[in-house]
Amino acid sequence: MNLTKIINNLEIKIKGFNKIRMIPEDLLAIAEDIDINTIIDKTIPYPKSFVLNKEKFIYYNPDKEENIFTLFLGHELGHFLLNHHNLNLLYHSPFSLFHETELEKEANVIAFLFWYPTIYIKRKLEKYGRLEVNMFFNEFQIEDIKTELLTHLIHTRLKIYEDYYNLNKINKII
Ligand SMILES: [Zn+2]
Repeated sequence: MNLTKIINNLEIKIKGFNKIRMIPEDLLAIAEDIDINTIIDKTIPYPKSFVLNKEKFIYYNPDKEENIFTLFLGHELGHFLLNHHNLNLLYHSPFSLFHETELEKEANVIAFLFWYPTIYIKRKLEKYGRLEVNMFFNEFQIEDIKTELLTHLIHTRLKIYEDYYNLNKINKII
């Protein structure tokens, strides 16, 4: 699957995708737009998504720190936007931002683009001529999130940016 092409299509299809920073409310609105039933379940630690009788569902717990909540929801939304559910797979494994399987990685890429758009990273690069994790810290509410975790999330986002940039470069050459 050509993820760069999919990302470009999503940028056209979903207003603000990879252009503005999304919060959980934005993601729930997008889910509604594409006919996903979003259901609050305060007993689950991580969101779950599935298709039942052709109906799409995301169950989620709203009692989460906002950055994590955005990434969790973005991940499940990513599975739908990438049509993973049509592959008839069940997602039993608990959510992890750092899953190793291909489909989980793809869903994570979408989640991270919802969380922090590419254009914001480009602006930083243009301004400072380099990218370092600590340049991004002041843009996040960090009272409720551990510094190490936020560092890890920003680092992951920058890695995705690099990979995406390199992929685009390769695609243009071909
Ligand atoms: Zn997943």
